[in-house]
Amino acid sequence: MNSPVIAHRGAFKANHFPENSIASLKQAIQLNCFGSEFDVWMTADDSLVVNHDPKFHNLEIEKTDFKTLQQFQLSNGEALPTLRNYLRAGLENNPSTQLILEIKPSNISKERGQIVAAKVVELVLAEKASHRTVYISFDFDMLVKIRSLLKKAHLQYLNGDKSPAEVRAAGLDGLDYHFSVFQKNPDWIDQAKSLGLKLNAWTVNDPAIMSWLLDKKFDFITTNEPEQLQAMVNERNSKK
Ligand code: MG
Repeated sequence: MNSPVIAHRGAFKANHFPENSIASLKQAIQLNCFGSEFDVWMTADDSLVVNHDPKFHNLEIEKTDFKTLQQFQLSNGEALPTLRNYLRAGLENNPSTQLILEIKPSNISKERGQIVAAKVVELVLAEKASHRTVYISFDFDMLVKIRSLLKKAHLQYLNGDKSPAEVRAAGLDGLDYHFSVFQKNPDWIDQAKSLGLKLNAWTVNDPAIMSWLLDKKFDFITTNEPEQLQAMVNERNSKK
């Protein structure tokens, strides 16, 4: 089987890199992960930046301008990554790792979320990163917006509250749910497969759950432990 491993916020843990840093992205590429996940917010002055939390150094990203945010660094000395720089780093010396781009729902308004989604698409197109990008979001309407702009984009929904049929009907092409959602709704696994939807689960760090998802033939597994998951996949492949 091909690698199903998606490094959650990059491969940060083993080398103590900051989450969502370019260093963690480069490490995921080095490990030949299927994908490296990261989170995107828009600043008050419309810059797209990569960070997990709504705040960076205690400043609310959506309400702060880029110049102010930029005064602070990540713990390894990297600048706060812009989405542009992150995409560029992700396309450089990278034979296959996909960029799993999570757009955070806006805490200001749904309308702002629609603008963020459109701006992200515009930048991904400008940077010629479409072929490497999978868009994910907890905001269903952001993904529907992206579908209206891009017929072929890979779009996976995160929130776990919609059935495979509902996701398919909206034109999205994957479920990326917390693993417990699949444990509670095991019939969704076969339903998704029969609808041609990709299956991804987050954030899976327990070997027993990794093993269960591999048995269920998930396309992707998002983990903070990419090395461990890859070792498990390699061991299974060696027994075939
Ligand atoms: Mg994320």
